[in-house]
Amino acid sequence: MSAIALRNPSLFRSPLLWRLVAINSAAVLAFLLVSSAYLEVKLRQDLVHEMQQDLQVRARLVDSAFHANPGDPQKTVGRLSQWAGVRVTLIRPDGSVIADSDEIASRMDNHGTRPEVIEATKNGVGISQRQSDTRGTEFLYVAVTDLDKPGANIVRVAMDARLVSQRMQAVRNTIFATVAALFMIGLILSLVAARYLVRPIQIVANAATEIAKGNLDTSVEMTRRDELGDLAGAFNAMSRELRSRVGQLEANRRELSAIMDNMSEGLVLVNSHGTVTLANRVATNMLGQQQSGLVGRPLWESVRMPEVDELLGSLPGIKEPRRIWVEDHTNLQQRRVLAFVATPLFDAGRGELLAVLLISDATEDQKLLELRQEFVANVSHELKTPLTSISAYIETLLDGAADDTEVRRPFLEKIRTNTSRLTKLVSDILTVSRLESGTGEEIQQQFDLNEIAASSVRRHQEAADLKAIKLTLHTTATPALGMINEEDMLSAVDNLLDNAISYTPQNGNVDVTVAKGAQGLSLEVKDTGVGIAAEALPRVFERFYRVDKARSRAMGGTGLGLAIVKHVALKHGGKVDAESEVGKGSCFRISLPSAATSTRLPSSPASPA
Ligand code: ADP
Repeated sequence: MSAIALRNPSLFRSPLLWRLVAINSAAVLAFLLVSSAYLEVKLRQDLVHEMQQDLQVRARLVDSAFHANPGDPQKTVGRLSQWAGVRVTLIRPDGSVIADSDEIASRMDNHGTRPEVIEATKNGVGISQRQSDTRGTEFLYVAVTDLDKPGANIVRVAMDARLVSQRMQAVRNTIFATVAALFMIGLILSLVAARYLVRPIQIVANAATEIAKGNLDTSVEMTRRDELGDLAGAFNAMSRELRSRVGQLEANRRELSAIMDNMSEGLVLVNSHGTVTLANRVATNMLGQQQSGLVGRPLWESVRMPEVDELLGSLPGIKEPRRIWVEDHTNLQQRRVLAFVATPLFDAGRGELLAVLLISDATEDQKLLELRQEFVANVSHELKTPLTSISAYIETLLDGAADDTEVRRPFLEKIRTNTSRLTKLVSDILTVSRLESGTGEEIQQQFDLNEIAASSVRRHQEAADLKAIKLTLHTTATPALGMINEEDMLSAVDNLLDNAISYTPQNGNVDVTVAKGAQGLSLEVKDTGVGIAAEALPRVFERFYRVDKARSRAMGGTGLGLAIVKHVALKHGGKVDAESEVGKGSCFRISLPSAATSTRLPSSPASPA
């Protein structure tokens, strides 16, 4: 599990951090500007007031100094001006200027209209800040007079108002430096505060990104006891829950995928647009696609079978599954039939109709069906011939031939021959069907193959003698034991001996040999008969196959003898093979596993005979 807290996310690239810093700094700056503006106004007022008080004191001192030493007013004014550090003007109560420290009094106009003089005449003190008519610059004036002494002169002191501005400028500079320093401190504090808030958010955001990338083992390590700590805790709980859910989903997906991939049938899920949303491996292989070649594409693009499109198109109206067989022509070498079973499926979640397609290889089923149809056709045909003859002979007899003693007997003989042929045919058909269907008794007993061979040879001795055929039996010295169904094996050996005697001319030889070896048992029937052509040899085990039809019929053959032999051998877990040379003879060999290896009955495959 990776703990995101260990990683240090790049803090200074965080827009949130800068936004918080900007907001905080703006607030600090606004506060500083407003307070400094207020401070400046207040300080200016205080400064002006203080200077007025100061000037007032100076004016009073200058006034006292005049009274103490009146002397030459012009000289006294100059001296007092230097002493007090201000401009001094001495004014009569009528407004005429007696003396001025900075100007020549005679050139100065009457000052009785000056606001500070008017106010001083009324209240004893007058203050005014204004443009000096005499000097042209702004001055702060304070005039005082002693109201208790009628006719007392007015002493006015003045100070250049720029002094106030200069003092204020100094104050402003100090304020500015303080504001700048405070702003810097505010900025640093904002950064610290923003980092304190942003860092955990960044850690959680990074962890969320890791989870989004699929790294579900990510967790956040944070020990804070505040809302951000709670957020980290909630995030970790969410991540644990997500891990468990995803694990569950993954397990479900694996299970589903294991089931799907181990299905013997192909499974394809098609949405309402005809696009494949799910396909298992079998389906992909069956439809000749690469891995994941089906999913995400319309089915018709991968499977060029109009019948399948029609099948899917017919689904909306139906409720039950529909099945079709389609011949697959993609592989011209090998004929293949695919069975498609389509089932409509309504996906309530998405509100659409899906189709589930189950695909299986029906080639064998198709072959079996064809074989069955062929078998039925052959059986009908085989039955028809003797039945037609029997019916024809009976008709002829009924038409009057029955009264003719000369023809009656041969006709009845023919009817008997055809009837036995029919009986043998039906019996062989039933035997083949029983053997092919795999039903019947299980082989539970050991039996000596020598005994079966001897029994069959005994049964055929007479037929062999009739054709002067030398029928010889070669048995093993010790019993040739195998898990053998006596009745079936006897019928197989009988069929081989029937054929050997039938297809061997007079004075020929037929040898029946039982052998026992490491591989198992074998029973061989060898004749010196007509033999079978090489091209016909592989087909002799097919049902109703005859090399020479007329000859076989004449011999009373049904065309099923070797098919029975083959099925009996297969039923015993063995096999049958044949060697033959035209004109020289044939050799048929049944090979069986020995008793030790053949303890169970193998199911007889319904393979084409
Ligand atoms: P049938 O009832 O016609 O004998 P089988 O299935 O036993 O049918 O044999 C199929 C065909 O194989 C026969 O029609 C015959 O042409 C040929 N055949 C079978 N055994 C022999 C043999 N020993 N020698 C020559 N031909 C044989």
